[in-house]
Amino acid sequence: MNERLFNQVRNDFPDFSFRQGKKFAFRPPTTVIIGPDEAHDDLLLLHEVSHAVLKHRDFKTNIERLKMESEAWEKAKELANKYKIEVDEDFIQDELDTYRDWLHKKSRCPKCGLTRFQTPDGLYHCPRCENF
Ligand SMILES: [Zn+2]
Ligand SMILES: [Zn+2]
Repeated sequence: MNERLFNQVRNDFPDFSFRQGKKFAFRPPTTVIIGPDEAHDDLLLLHEVSHAVLKHRDFKTNIERLKMESEAWEKAKELANKYKIEVDEDFIQDELDTYRDWLHKKSRCPKCGLTRFQTPDGLYHCPRCENF
């Protein structure tokens, strides 16, 4: 972990708590989990901090989840400029792609393979199997 960055972030966001964990993550409302050292860990830190800055909470649907992920990356880019951290756009797109793939897999109907949709309660519905 970039110590300079980590100290600056802790100074700038004294209300957030930072804990070590197995991987970078955000626990609402204000806890950022710091993963092990890896390539782009500085951007990952800023990304998780961004979720807290944007006051992200629980999400019911996966579309909301994807929206929060891209918002958090937009915010992370702002913070990266502020802290003079290099923004690797390819890395960010790869991270978003893993969410898109995950969303795509989750939304497939296990019976017929059609793309299902989610209602605001978070439940999936298949337009074919449920006879809409
Ligand atoms: Zn995220
Ligand atoms: Zn189906």
